[in-house]
Amino acid sequence: MSSNDKSVIFNLESVLVEIEKEEKKFPIGNVYCVGRNYEKHAIEMGNDTKEEPFFFSKFPQSVTNKTEIFIPEDTNNFQHEVELVVFIGRNCSNIEPNQAKEYIFGYSVGIDLTKRDLQKIAKDKSRPWTLSKGFEYSAPISKIKRNENFSINNGEISLIKNGVISQKGNICEMTWSVDEIISKLSKNFKLFPGDLIFTGTPSGVGRIEQGDRIEAIIENVGILELTFL
Ligand code: MN
Repeated sequence: MSSNDKSVIFNLESVLVEIEKEEKKFPIGNVYCVGRNYEKHAIEMGNDTKEEPFFFSKFPQSVTNKTEIFIPEDTNNFQHEVELVVFIGRNCSNIEPNQAKEYIFGYSVGIDLTKRDLQKIAKDKSRPWTLSKGFEYSAPISKIKRNENFSINNGEISLIKNGVISQKGNICEMTWSVDEIISKLSKNFKLFPGDLIFTGTPSGVGRIEQGDRIEAIIENVGILELTFL
């Protein structure tokens, strides 16, 4: 899929994001997300903690390096979920957890922005979360920190809103580890370079209002600073 392939009627346009200390950009492919991967978050949302986490997806145009985000007008409960984001660097199919790190390109800090009121309606009607989770710019991320062939298994993850800690947890609390997530996905989908995975959020998710400033931090990964307009 070269960007100047003359055998196709048009070339796909990629969403591009930045890699720390590198000029070249990272083109975004499929955007996978894990739901309820931290027990304390499952509890705060009123869910059964004996249930396994699960996958849903966003879209390439969800992903952005923008640091100023407009709150969409069709929600009255716009919420933050800080998450470790893993980027895939090689084709990957049907692998076991102990092989997963070979396919990792790097990591960033991401926020899974959610229209919680629309998600509630979707849940009540057993509809998918496409509109409440997958809208444009719903997945702001920090610059990618290249860290090939390395599985992150611990490190503090937190989100500070207007100077006050809102979310706090540790990567080691994830129900499915990074390696397990990649293995499970690879048994359902062929993973491609450019694909990325939001790995779930710790407890403390909350509402974002106009003018809020958010700092999301993951130890040894980075910081994502956002202002909401
Ligand atoms: Mn999430």
